[in-house]
Amino acid sequence: MTPNPDLARRIHERIRAALDAGRPPQIVLDLDGTLFDNVPRTHRILLEVTRELLGPDDDITRMVEGLEEGDFEYSPVDTLRSQGVHDEEVLFRLRDAWATRFFGSSYLGHDLPLTGSIEAAKTWWETGAELNYLTGRHVPEMVLGTCSSLLDAGFPLGTIRTHLLMKPAAEMNDVEFKVEAVGLIRNKGPIVLIVDNDPRVLNPLAEAVPEAIPVRVRTLHPKDAPTLADGIPVVDDFRALVAG
Ligand SMILES: [Mg+2]
Repeated sequence: MTPNPDLARRIHERIRAALDAGRPPQIVLDLDGTLFDNVPRTHRILLEVTRELLGPDDDITRMVEGLEEGDFEYSPVDTLRSQGVHDEEVLFRLRDAWATRFFGSSYLGHDLPLTGSIEAAKTWWETGAELNYLTGRHVPEMVLGTCSSLLDAGFPLGTIRTHLLMKPAAEMNDVEFKVEAVGLIRNKGPIVLIVDNDPRVLNPLAEAVPEAIPVRVRTLHPKDAPTLADGIPVVDDFRALVAG
């Protein structure tokens, strides 16, 4: 799907129309792989876990040290396999140690905001839209780090028209949580825009909220994700979503 050159204008017009109608326009923004690039977080964690579990001189540790951004797949196991690691027991141990750190607060500071994401969020918020950060991250282990990384990056948070919506428990299904959440968000005002990187999430959200403009950002997503539904635009980053 080619980017729609009118996308930024359409988003702006939807926001204005809602404001003119006296209803707060709602914008739904995913975090992982959408506002933030998580590859630096995964790289840092893989560096630590290979050094700790395999030792600093192990071939796999050395290989991880040399990985570049483009070498990463959505799953760390797929990344390691694509680099020639096939010992299932080693893969299991590394994946297990990676997950404990990835799904916690301590390493979130390594995420990098996707190009244009901070500026876009600020622009929409200053125009009068309400920002709903809707993430599959869970509150118990990730809320503090998530607040810190959003604030440190400069995203509007903790003030009027900003909401951080996280799963109350890790085991909850991401898609079911997000579908339920958009049903509640739309009670506050019309949802004008939904940005996510994962077709598993974006397809059902676009179906649940047909009045919104759904957009996928082209970052990593699972290999087994379904094809993106027809008509959903794909952009490389957030510069395509705000008029220059
Ligand atoms: Mg995501």
